[in-house]
Amino acid sequence: MTRRAIALAPTSLPAAAYDFDCRRCARLAGFLDAVRGDHPGYFCHPVPPFGDGNARLVIVGLAPGKHGANATGRPFTGDYAGILLYGTLFDFGFGSEPESLGAGDALRLVDARITNAVKCLPPGNKPLPAEIRECNAYLAAELSTLPEGAAVLALGRIAHDAILRALKVPSRGHAFKHGASHALDRGVRLFDSYHCSRYNTNTKRLTPAMFKRVFRDIDRHLNRERSRTDIA
Ligand code: SF4
Repeated sequence: MTRRAIALAPTSLPAAAYDFDCRRCARLAGFLDAVRGDHPGYFCHPVPPFGDGNARLVIVGLAPGKHGANATGRPFTGDYAGILLYGTLFDFGFGSEPESLGAGDALRLVDARITNAVKCLPPGNKPLPAEIRECNAYLAAELSTLPEGAAVLALGRIAHDAILRALKVPSRGHAFKHGASHALDRGVRLFDSYHCSRYNTNTKRLTPAMFKRVFRDIDRHLNRERSRTDIA
């Protein structure tokens, strides 16, 4: 499978939601060139959204990890953070498998999609504010197709702010707080969670139980009839 084939975003998203060849951020494009030189087998392009193009749940992370999503071409795949995220999606019936192994595996997301506020790997996992703003056009195009009553889950404050910017919602009155949710237009609700990073989970800033509570709130908002956690 070619990298370009791997990189196909869901076809039901607008074309403006993703560009395999984007180099608008010179610093990030140069960094990707350097990482590609060191790791020729890595994906090393903007990482496209993964999942259902018509999903009612859209999860927004920060940016690809160097040896995870940047290597595999799929958000949160190969990243430690993906273990809790994909496991929880499976528990709640949004994923067909409990883990994401890489492009070409059997995993399908059901009514859910994962994307990032910044599509390219940033040095030190820290995108610059200008890079977050530049990439926001892609997120805005992607979120422009959110169905009425959808749920958007922000993993961390940067993702939260990027979502508000993309949806042209003033940040005033919508401060990021783990476990909080914010009513937006057309019945869409923004849910906040600490990022499921290795640091946050190892330090127990975010526990699986805390993450599950956020998903229960999302379940209720979406009026989903049942999930695997209800069945268990
Ligand atoms: S971070 Fe976004 S805007 Fe910047 S080069 Fe990558 S895809 Fe383009």
